Amino acid sequence: MSKKEEIILPNGVNKEDFLKAISEIEKIVGTKWVFKTKEDLDLYRDAYSPYWDELEEPIPSLAIAPKKVEEIQEIVRIANKYTLPIFPISTGKNLGYGSSAPNNRGDVVIDLKRMNKIIEVNDKRNYCILEPGVSYFDLYEYCEKNNLNVIMDIPDPGWGSPVGNSLDHGWGYTYGQYRDHFGAHCGMEVVLANGEVMRTAMGALPGSKTFAENKYGYGPYLDGLFSQSNFGIVTKMGFWMMPKPEHYTLAVLTVPKRDDLIPLVEIMNYLEDSSIIGWPLYRSPLNPEYGKPMNPELKSYLTSKNGKPDIDKIQDYAIRNDIPYWQIDIPVYGNKDSVEANINYIKQRFTKAIDGAKVKVIEDYDLPLTKKQAKSLKHKVTLGIPNLEIFWLSTRGENFGPKDGHVWFSPIIPRDGKELLKCQEIYIDTFHELGMESMITPFSHPRTWMYRAFCFMIGFANSRTDKEKNEQMRKVYTTMVKVAAKHGWGDYRAAPPFQDAVSGVYNFNNNILKRFTQELKDTIDPNGILAPGRGGIWPKRLRGDKNA
Ligand SMILES: Cc1cc2nc3c(=O)[nH]c(=O)nc-3n(C[C@H](O)[C@H](O)[C@H](O)COP(=O)(O)OP(=O)(O)OC[C@H]3O[C@@H](n4cnc5c(N)ncnc54)[C@H](O)[C@@H]3O)c2cc1C
Repeated sequence: MSKKEEIILPNGVNKEDFLKAISEIEKIVGTKWVFKTKEDLDLYRDAYSPYWDELEEPIPSLAIAPKKVEEIQEIVRIANKYTLPIFPISTGKNLGYGSSAPNNRGDVVIDLKRMNKIIEVNDKRNYCILEPGVSYFDLYEYCEKNNLNVIMDIPDPGWGSPVGNSLDHGWGYTYGQYRDHFGAHCGMEVVLANGEVMRTAMGALPGSKTFAENKYGYGPYLDGLFSQSNFGIVTKMGFWMMPKPEHYTLAVLTVPKRDDLIPLVEIMNYLEDSSIIGWPLYRSPLNPEYGKPMNPELKSYLTSKNGKPDIDKIQDYAIRNDIPYWQIDIPVYGNKDSVEANINYIKQRFTKAIDGAKVKVIEDYDLPLTKKQAKSLKHKVTLGIPNLEIFWLSTRGENFGPKDGHVWFSPIIPRDGKELLKCQEIYIDTFHELGMESMITPFSHPRTWMYRAFCFMIGFANSRTDKEKNEQMRKVYTTMVKVAAKHGWGDYRAAPPFQDAVSGVYNFNNNILKRFTQELKDTIDPNGILAPGRGGIWPKRLRGDKNA
């Protein structure tokens, strides 16, 4: 156990029972796969924890890496016997939303990395069936090696897993129906809190031939219950995959004015929802390149109107310096002719509707790409090529104060230009009221992963050394959750320290959603062993004043 401190115990379990549970678990998975030393358990800490080195930091007491479904069933039975809280992860790379750490200090991590079978990839009917430990890198390599004609929609970091990412409602970068990773899943196998194995939808039909193709089977659709929750340990999932296109083009749209965003978004929505384009990446060229400082003149206008931004001066600066206010990268897939026709149509739509709009093609390739083309691709993720490039970019932006990591604040707002501009204003005002430099500017852009909504995200920096800074960050985060909720914007995802705050604003009709899920929790996990508190769902025995 820990050299520095006494053994960390799971909540509500005494040392004697804990040691007995460990020895029973070791008999099932082998001692090699039960991690108890500080050195090993440190790897399960949340590398971006806003409670780093504080008593509230959720360091696990133990981690277990089972290889088979039957082993998980046995672990669950032991957990029930000793009321041991267990927390499943797939690849455990949930950085910014909790990494591989559990919700509470002492919860036991069930690390499913060894369950890494690619059960099937079908490139005629375009799906795959995977175990939780299969990473995006694994799946990509498998498809490339076997020359399969499908691509998986992936998130930015390629070391995560389709199962883990989708269970936390992760997003990617191709067409909407694929980049909604939970939406693109089809079929699930789950170990329930009583140790039974359940298959959902078509999987409930023994010998079914469409596990990963038809989502619903017959009866109520249960899969959603197992995402962002604590009702089961998912051991298999099917996913719809995208056929590899024959041709790929990346066009760049620029517009000169801030308010151009309003017609721009409407056209972009039309193009996206008609599947003419893939994922549109919104940016403002007024932002400095990653890691570079902002132009001092422009920066001065962020506070020159009574401490708030002077939008007219910012707009004037952009025009004088010939800097477009917005820039959108637009990937288009198809065959050479269809892509060319779509690019012409896109040009026509924007240039007719917005004065000064320009559309330029910057990448144009037949597939398969050569190694050189793949390496130089501007957005590898738009063609499902997993990588980790985001890490040298996104932790070095100007906004990332201490560079030890960040916690994402991720509210969903309507996919509407006016609403985005309003959202900028509200956030700027909130930072102003809090007496802080605003992390949002009048040229902060929306994130566009969501299919049919924007996410207007802030990455709050955390520190490994400055506890006061972390405390302040936690306060600002929870304030932002409330401010967003007041305007009808709710987070789509949150790290464990903020899951109660976030789920707490989804409180329509006297918290009926929470009351309903907690009633389910008490029924199907009466001992409250599975991931207590995950998604704001607490079992009765730990609910206390968190009761809705
Ligand atoms: C710089 C940066 C960029 C990022 N970009 C993206 C992005 O583009 N898109 C995106 O979606 N995310 C992004 N993330 C967030 C995160 O890194 C990814 O979502 C990552 O894929 C999640 O980790 P994972 O796949 O290993 O899932 P895990 O960490 O394994 O799982 C996530 C959570 O799901 C639950 N869970 C996992 N497995 C199971 C199971 N088998 N049964 C029951 N519950 C389970 C657990 O509560 C777990 O904590 C980014 C993070 C950073 C730091």
